[in-house]
Amino acid sequence: MNILKTLRRWDDEDQRVRRAAYLRNLQVIGIAARWMVALNLLYALVFGFSTFADPIDRIWARQTCLAHSLMLLPMATVGWWCKRSHAHAQAQTHLRHEVTLVAELSYAGVVLWAIGLTAIDQSIGTNISAFVIANVGVSVVLLVRPLWSLAFQVFSWCVMAWTLSWSMQMPAMLTSNLTSAAATCILGAMISGLLWRRFVQTELLQAALKETNRALEANRIELQRLATRDPLTELINRREFMARAEQERARADQQGLPLALVVLDLDEFKSVNDMHGHLVGDEVLREVARVMAESMRKIDVVGRFGGEEFVILLPQVDEAHAFKLAESLRLRIAGARIEQLGRAVTASLGLVCVPGGSQMSLDAMFRLADRALYKSKHNGRNRTTLAEASTILPVPLS
Ligand code: GH3
Ligand code: MG
Ligand code: MG
Repeated sequence: MNILKTLRRWDDEDQRVRRAAYLRNLQVIGIAARWMVALNLLYALVFGFSTFADPIDRIWARQTCLAHSLMLLPMATVGWWCKRSHAHAQAQTHLRHEVTLVAELSYAGVVLWAIGLTAIDQSIGTNISAFVIANVGVSVVLLVRPLWSLAFQVFSWCVMAWTLSWSMQMPAMLTSNLTSAAATCILGAMISGLLWRRFVQTELLQAALKETNRALEANRIELQRLATRDPLTELINRREFMARAEQERARADQQGLPLALVVLDLDEFKSVNDMHGHLVGDEVLREVARVMAESMRKIDVVGRFGGEEFVILLPQVDEAHAFKLAESLRLRIAGARIEQLGRAVTASLGLVCVPGGSQMSLDAMFRLADRALYKSKHNGRNRTTLAEASTILPVPLS
């Protein structure tokens, strides 16, 4: 039962790495085929131009030259096809089943060809090195599923035994070579199995690592959002606003640019809650935040400071421009009919503008903007008040 379970698990894992194994095989065959073409060409030339005195040796050399020459075109074609298919397959997410057999077919093709070479070799000796080299070589280079390689090794041993039975005359030597061939087949199957399992484990580990990294990154982004955003309005929160405002303040100082700050407070918001409930109050806050985010420029920093109080930092604007922006925002808020409320809400704004080189701290800017906001409230609400110019004259740089 345990073995069955393990086999089922392995089969499941094999399916998950099939695409990766296929891509890896295409790449390896594309490279190996080129080397094999060069090697076969060399062998064909060596045996083709060899001059042996013995007629049996001459026939053997000619047959070997032919066997190597015959492999040139198929190997070059397979190599070219694999190289071309690799780029193509990388772009695809699903693979056609039959195409993925390229490794198994190459595995079978090379070993069967080596059996042919071994049969030719039997005319001048008893070695089966062509079979051993090819068998171990393809087992090391290609990624083949263990069951496939096992089945194929049994098949290749049978073909080898049949070939040796008619190409080899000495019974003792035949037995020796058959056992060597069997050992080679077992070794080939073991190498294939081990390499395949190692590949599967590495691939699955990498996939799991990728997944963990993705989840961690998503968590990091979510945490950052939670730490910097106000959950109700999705505007940045007080802490994030202060951090960005400090940066803008420093930039304005450094480049001698003007900077403006708006503090905005909704008018008689308590009565909205009292009359319509907190949920409607929340909806009003969300709607006002949306209008604010839409109305301001890209470089403006808009945040919720707490309650029904919002803040906006306006970089690179002079007094007149800042006042215009603040007024246009006030009018847009006053003009936005909120569905759940059945009417619009109004806001009072306090505005402070500091010219370039003023060196005024953010705290001081807030104090002035708050005072201006208080005046807006005091003078009847739904208006923008500019902080007194005398309080914000540029401070000469010492
Ligand atoms: P004023 O024009 O003077 O600013 O009057 P106001 O009613 O807007 O000011 P007040 O400070 O008296 O009331 C603010 C109200 O805002 C009180 C509080 O219940 C409400 N509030 C603060 N935060 C939230 C929130 O997140 N959701 C809702 N629905 N109400 C909130
Ligand atoms: Mg208020
Ligand atoms: Mg308030």
